[in-house]
Amino acid sequence: MKRHVLLGAGLAAAMVGSLMTGTASAQEQRFISVGTGGVTGVYYPVGGAICRLMNQTRREHGIRCSVESTGGSVFNVNAIKGGDLEFGVVQSDVQYNAYHGEGGFAEGGPHEKLRSVFSLHPEPLTIVARADSGITDFDSLKGKRVNIGNPGSGQRAVMDLLINEKGWSYSDFALAAELAPAEQSSQLCDNNIDAFAYTVGHPAGAIQEATTTCDSRIIPVEGELIDRLVEENPYYFKAVIPGGMYNGNPDDVNTFGVGATVVTSADVPDDVVRAFVDSVFRDFEAFKGLHPALANLTPESMVNQGNSAPLHPAAEAYYKEKGWLK
Ligand code: GLU
Repeated sequence: MKRHVLLGAGLAAAMVGSLMTGTASAQEQRFISVGTGGVTGVYYPVGGAICRLMNQTRREHGIRCSVESTGGSVFNVNAIKGGDLEFGVVQSDVQYNAYHGEGGFAEGGPHEKLRSVFSLHPEPLTIVARADSGITDFDSLKGKRVNIGNPGSGQRAVMDLLINEKGWSYSDFALAAELAPAEQSSQLCDNNIDAFAYTVGHPAGAIQEATTTCDSRIIPVEGELIDRLVEENPYYFKAVIPGGMYNGNPDDVNTFGVGATVVTSADVPDDVVRAFVDSVFRDFEAFKGLHPALANLTPESMVNQGNSAPLHPAAEAYYKEKGWLK
């Protein structure tokens, strides 16, 4: 594995800087990595879009941004904690739990250096089932072959919570599969699983694949438990997956979801975070145009909603200058 970038780059910069007066070439040695998710999700193309914008202005800041496909939210916060990633896209519930040391992060304790950068698109819990599976709601997943998500993914964190709240265990499924997002659609259409759960923005490649390759339905997730979870937790909200977005799914589907957010560490230098946020906001229309899941974002919503860890000071300063912070 590569890294450690920032430290290594800093040393290299200091050494080169002592030999040269022009700092541009020294700065060119800095690298950052953005952790995302599976390639058929939304994090990966959005992370790619951010890096593309940042790399376009590399002459100004000297930082090369690279996007990494990873196991998802939980993997990303842990990699940021370990210093292996500078930025990561993570679900709002995972950000909250990691910062506060709650939920799946209770054992490791609070990740005190976790810092918010901004929030992104909504991610409804999206259950896709084969049309011939007999699955019509969350409860009918019981006894079926279900992909509950790879360890390290955000969907796995959500499914573990729901399974626990329902008083179920993995053995209540005929199969509790731990497939990565890029595998789940072909496994569904090959009839190796009956359904998969994915917390993801829309439209997502994985859902397009599942709904065009075989006859499959998006299943509602609603009821008393969901009402209570949404009421009790700031990072959950009710969501609707619009009808007509996917083949064979003409009607709106009610579910609940989280928000995608971008996080970093307090250890990542101010100028790096500033260059990162400036890349996104300096030509915001261009950024929004890079993926349809981003179409409804506004700078105000991104800086004021969905972030539970403190903002990184450089991001906060940038948003204050722009007058966006409430
Ligand atoms: N929400 C998923 C996760 O946290 C990733 C979704 C995506 O890749 O777009 O693992």
